[in-house]
Amino acid sequence: MLTPIDGRSVIVTGASKGIGKGIARVFASKGAKVLLAARDLAQAEAAAAEIGGEASAVAADVSSEEDCARMARTALERHGGIDVVCCNAGIFPAARLGTMTAADWDQVLDINLKGTFLTVNACLAALKARGKGRIIVTSSITGPITGYPGWSHYAASKAGQLGFVRTAAIELAPHNITVNAVLPGNLLTEGVEALGAGYIASMTSAIPLRRLGSVEDVAYAALFLASDEAGFISGQTIVVDGGQVLPESHLAL
Ligand code: NAP
Repeated sequence: MLTPIDGRSVIVTGASKGIGKGIARVFASKGAKVLLAARDLAQAEAAAAEIGGEASAVAADVSSEEDCARMARTALERHGGIDVVCCNAGIFPAARLGTMTAADWDQVLDINLKGTFLTVNACLAALKARGKGRIIVTSSITGPITGYPGWSHYAASKAGQLGFVRTAAIELAPHNITVNAVLPGNLLTEGVEALGAGYIASMTSAIPLRRLGSVEDVAYAALFLASDEAGFISGQTIVVDGGQVLPESHLAL
């Protein structure tokens, strides 16, 4: 049994659906005050209303420094501080090399990687003021461990997040702030459902546990990293993928 996190102030970016909403739901169910951020305010508000408890929403595009500052201010105003920041917002449009444009590349890197930095930067003063804090980044197996055609920009952004995590962990350790990442495999989110039945079937057959993950599978890993008990873990990763990265070939399955 972990020390309860009730009353803690938690920001989750990209929380109007998918993994972010799952993280927000699990943290709120444990009594945390959760601020759900996404670009579409109506969708974020609907998610917060569905979650209930002390969940509320704010409109924020994590690739905008201004929006991230407003998001952090909103958490301070509503919750009186910030204890946990979940940098989860991300996009995964596909484009193969040869057709990928510089604009495609920039959009993915701006949201997934720069957005992680901007989110942390905006929340830093408030985290330091608490005397302890938790930063949890949603990376991916794609990039840090595996590759997938069409996602060279995405993979670069997700691997880049881990470089950020490792150095941020060192820089923020004197403030008793830990920085870690969860690396989801394939989860059944709205974003992945949009990739189609063929994608989902091929991924299911590549996963030793023979199912796509649920958002709760990732949310509970994030909850552990946010706990007091995980206070000596920093700069690390937890892979949540049903064993997908393990097989040396399809014969292993
Ligand atoms: P999703 O279902 O498409 O949801 C994405 C969320 O991020 C939405 O709430 C979206 O809301 C928000 N978002 C997108 N761009 C944003 C921006 N610029 N600023 C703020 N919020 C933004 O995605 P998901 O599958 O849950 O993925 C969430 C994270 O997990 C991503 O970082 C993704 O790379 C990672 N991941 C997912 C999987 C998977 O299998 N699903 C696997 C590995 C890693 P708005 O559009 O309204 O902003």
